[in-house]
Formats: sequence, structure tokens, C-alpha cells
Amino acid sequence: MHDSATPHLPSSPPPASANPLLDFSSLPRFGDIRPMHVEPAIRSLIDENRRLIERLTADPAPPSWDGFVGPMDEAGERLSRAWGVVGHLHSVLDVPEWREAYNAMLPEVSRFYAEVGQNLALFRKYKALHDGPAFATLSPVRQRILEHALRDFRLSGAELPDAQKPRFQAIQEEQSQLAAKFSENLLDATNAHAEWIEDETGLAGIPEDAREAARAAAEAEGRPGWKFTLQMPAYLPVMQYADDRALRARMYRAYATRASELGKPELDNGPLIGRILALRDEEAHMLGYRNFAEVSLVPKMADSPAQVLAFLHELAARAKPFAEQDLEELKAFARAELGLDTLEPWDLAYASEKLREKRYAYSDQEVKQYFPEPKVLDGLFGVIRALYRVDILPDEAPKWDPDVRFFRIEKDAALVGHFYLDLHARSTKRGGAWMDSARSRHRDVWGSDTPLAYLVCNFPGPVNGRPATFTHDDVLTLFHECGHGLHHLLTQVDELAVSGIHGVEWDAVELPSQFMENFCWEWDVLQGMTAHVDSGEPLPRALYDKMIAAKNFQSGMQTVRQLEFSLFDLRLHAEVDASSGPVPIERVMALLDEVRGEVAVLIPPPWHRFPHSFSHIFAGGYAAGYYSYKWAEVLSADAFEAFEEAGAGKGSLLDAETGARFWREILAVGGSRPALESFKAFRGREPRVDALLRHNGMVTPA
Ligand SMILES: [Zn+2]
Repeated sequence: MHDSATPHLPSSPPPASANPLLDFSSLPRFGDIRPMHVEPAIRSLIDENRRLIERLTADPAPPSWDGFVGPMDEAGERLSRAWGVVGHLHSVLDVPEWREAYNAMLPEVSRFYAEVGQNLALFRKYKALHDGPAFATLSPVRQRILEHALRDFRLSGAELPDAQKPRFQAIQEEQSQLAAKFSENLLDATNAHAEWIEDETGLAGIPEDAREAARAAAEAEGRPGWKFTLQMPAYLPVMQYADDRALRARMYRAYATRASELGKPELDNGPLIGRILALRDEEAHMLGYRNFAEVSLVPKMADSPAQVLAFLHELAARAKPFAEQDLEELKAFARAELGLDTLEPWDLAYASEKLREKRYAYSDQEVKQYFPEPKVLDGLFGVIRALYRVDILPDEAPKWDPDVRFFRIEKDAALVGHFYLDLHARSTKRGGAWMDSARSRHRDVWGSDTPLAYLVCNFPGPVNGRPATFTHDDVLTLFHECGHGLHHLLTQVDELAVSGIHGVEWDAVELPSQFMENFCWEWDVLQGMTAHVDSGEPLPRALYDKMIAAKNFQSGMQTVRQLEFSLFDLRLHAEVDASSGPVPIERVMALLDEVRGEVAVLIPPPWHRFPHSFSHIFAGGYAAGYYSYKWAEVLSADAFEAFEEAGAGKGSLLDAETGARFWREILAVGGSRPALESFKAFRGREPRVDALLRHNGMVTPA
């Protein structure tokens, strides 16, 4: 989109009033911002940043914080705020004009950030400030910011001898190509198989909505009958509900061997895995580490592969007896009630679903009646008020949709921050739920700002004048995103690079969000945030007890499965020698067998090819990081336990004193100090796994 008034590049930023995207004086001007503003605004901000970097790196004087880092952060924040608004609108108002405006500038923005990360002159300036006499005079927080900046440059190869740089670059490029190919193979292999059912009796057990989708899939190809693909929405209902055991067995085998040598040779991910591991190993050695697991852990909370392994082994030892118990129970049920004498891998989801229905079933629809939106929001705000003694007040701001609400948070009548709440699904909104920063708290010689957050969900809206009602899952999602929001909004840090969620270690960033979810399982809290849409009655105890039982259903088996993936991932990147070239896939499978021997209660058939579809670590950002899911869960459960302890005997765990401490030691400090230090300052000790096990019902009777 071109604005005819400002064709192409303005040589200097237009006055703020001319382009609302360049107006940083207050809240984003959603009422005025149009797609035509994007290109001129973003180009002028990128230019501004480039010119600044040129000027600063050309300056022969030794760099100072206020003369170098300060202006860099300021200019960077302006670009990130403006581009953040564009990205936000692309997500919540995805009409063709906004999509076009976003996509037109995306490559330019990505190129700019890549260029900054590899700018050697810039790296030398940061290093000069770090190594110079001024460093000792900086606050510990500023010293930490500089150290992180250098670390990130270093991990992108900035410190390598010139002769090694082209090879390092080539390794990065080949890795991205291999990751993309891995995903493509998996997708193509997933689409390459389908089960066709001609006779309706073959559908026995499969729910109506899954049948309809399968019918539509067949019709789309002009064929009679039903087509079940290996995509999750088709695969899962078959595995959970199809009475036809042979159908389940065929689907299971097709799914488990995707993108392996057992399918089309051109879609085999095996050789890619070997090559990816070799490249990661080479990269690690070039950077001076012993293996890729060490590289992955550098910016994370965990110190060493050994520490993560010890953590995973401990959790495995504690969870395995419960997993064995879960499996025994399932086997006995399958034998007695389903006539399945041996429980095959393709019976697992099916038998589990039958057992769950029999023992713990309740309808989501029934629960939903107790969670009308206004009551849930009251409950959520009530929890926040009780914990942190803050006020959440409706406020006015320009919005992108009339349905959006806007709130201010005050502490003792002083403004802390603002947030937008965009709860309901719209056809132009991207799916899922997320929290994003619209503005970060900072204060320096250039000015100050309070934080501003977007909280976006995709819940059903009100119908026919009746308030929207939420499932319990929706409520968990809302609390989760609100936890991220509070981390961003309640920060007390004044430095952009580490305020709010900025600079928080990747394996600790889910602590405040998962922490908030715990409140949605508390009887006392639920009493205050539920009211039946018709009767106004709070959630009944019997229904609550069923919800808790269902939550913990097979938690032992689920836990050891996550631990199997985590251990496999970490050991693969810490132990497998890839220094002499691509790792043979047999070696990868052998390691997986070894891990299963230790933690798994269910050993899949020998033809199962799990690694070939493990996208998280081969095509996502989770290499030697899959453990983070459990790691953060342990932290959040243990932090929550402090509230359970404080509330014991008081009748409520919404304890303001513990809340104030959580705010001060965890939420307020953001990335300004190591997450472990923050945790210990709050809890008075290192994290323990006990609370998580207890919350999941894995308690050994005394
Ligand atoms: Zn999250």
C-alpha cells in the first residue's frame, strides 16, 4: 500500500501528526492508523535506526551508557512499538489491506534485525563499553544488560576469527534449510496417507462431528464414503473412539512411521536428523562448547546439561510408580470391560477414553453454565486485587474493535499500567490466546513510560443478550495470559532490555502464567468466580470433585511421556558424538530405546519412528530445551505452594503478604537478575518438584 501523499521514502521522519504510527506521545492511535501509514512509518524508523548505528559506530570516542546504549535502546523501542502495532493489527484485524501492509514490510524488518545481530562494529562498541573503565560505574542491572548483549553477539558467531565466519554462516543457513525440509517432509508424509471407509458400519464409535468432517473430505475429492487423514482433528477421534480395532491399528502404524524410511524414501527425515545433529555439534565446537546442549543452555535458567538431567531423573523416579499404576489400572479395565486381553499401542487412547468416560465424565457444557463472563472477570480481578492490593479500573482509549475493553491498574491511586482486553473470537482474528507488549516500562534521561499490554483470547461472545459463558479451559487460558500480562505490567524495572518479560530466561518465562492457572483449581476461588447463568448458584462440590479427578487422570503416564521426550532431546544433544559427520539414525533410535528403558511404562513397537516427527527439536526452537515445559511447571507449582502454606488455617490462600513478596521478588524484577535468584528470594530455597507432583495427584501415601 502506498500513500499517494508520501510516495516511497521520506528522507526524514514526517511530523508525528502526519503519520499516527510515528506518534509515540501517548497510547497507540488505533482510530487513525491506516494500512497506508505502515510503509512510510516503518521505513523511516528503520532508516533512523540505521543512521544512528552508523553515527555511533563511527564515533571514535569510548562509548558510554548515555551516549551509546541509551540512544540505541530508544530508537530500537520506537521501531519495536510501531512494528508491534502493525503486527498486532495483522493478528486481530486480518483483513486483506492489513495483511498486505504487514507482509510488505516483514522482510525488510527481519533483514534489519538480522543485520544488527551481525554488525561487528556494533559488537565492538558494546565490548569496548564492557571492557572499559566506565563498566565498573554502571548499576548491576546495566552490567547484566551489557553482558547479555555480548553473549547474544557471541552466540551468533561475532567473536569468531574471520577465517571461520563463512563456515559458521554456512552452518546456520544449512540448519534453517534442513529445519524447513524436516517440516515439509512431515507435512507431506502426514498428507500422504488416508483411510477410506465405504461402509457406515466401519464408523462405529466415531463421533458425529468427526464423521461429518471425514465425509466432507471425501466429497471434496468427488468420492463416496469417508476419508480419515493423519491430521490431528481426524486422527485423534479415530484413535479415541473407533470401535474397529484394525482401523485403529492401521492408522497408528501410518502415523508412527511418518517421514521415515518405512514410507516414501524422498520424505525420510532420518538422514536430515543425522545431518542436523552434526551441524549443531560443529557449531558448538566452533563457539568453544563441548556439545550443543551446552550452547542451548547458555541463555537459559538451567546451568548445565547435568543439572537438567538430574532434574528429569528425579521427576522420573517420583512419577514412574504412578505411571505403572495408571497402566495397570487401564489394562485391568480393558480386559474386564472391553474384552482386550492385551493392550496394544493402538488401544491405548481408545481404552483411556472409555475409562475416563466411565469414571470421571462430566460435560463441559454443564461446567460452562457456571462461568458467565462477567462473573469470571470479577473473579479474576478479585484475585489480582487480593494478591497485590491494586485497583483495576475501566478506562478509555482508541481501539481496533468496539468489542475491545481497556483498563488501568493503579496502586495507591498511582498509575501502574494499562491493558487492552480483547476476549471474543472474530472472523478477522488469528486463533489462540496471547499476551503481547504494546509498550514497556522505562525511565531514563529521554523520558519515562508506563507499560501497556494486549490480552487477546478467542472465546465465544454473548448471544441474544445473554452473557458469554466460558469452559473451564477458557478460564485457565484467561488466567494464564493474565499471568504473562501481570509480569509485563507490574514490573518495577526502568531499563527497557530487562523490564517486564524482556530478558527473562526462556525456561522461566512461563512461571507467572502457569502460576495464575493454579487459582482456577481452588475451591475457595471458584466459589467466588462462578454463578450459574440461570440460577446464580456457585459451582457445586460434586462437580468440582469430578473436575479435579479428571485433571489428574493418567497424570503419571502423561508425566513420564513428557520426561521421555525431554531426556531423549537433552541426551541427544549432550552425549551423541557427531564430530565425525552425520549421526546414523540407528544411533538415535538406540538412545531413545535406552531412555525408554529408564522412564517409559509403555514401549512402542520396534517400527515406531518417533524422532522423525519430533518437530519441536528438529524444526522448532526447542533443541535441548524440551525440558522447559516441566521445568517451568515445577517453578510455578512450587511458587503457588507458598500461597497454600500462607493460607493454611486462614481460610483463603489469597494472602496479600505473600502476594506482595511474589510481586517484589518475581514480577517486579523481570529479567534484571537471574530467575533462580528471584525464585530463591521469593521461596527462601531452591525449587522442589514436590508441589507439582502433589498438584497432579501423585502423592505417595504416608
Ligand atoms: Zn504462556
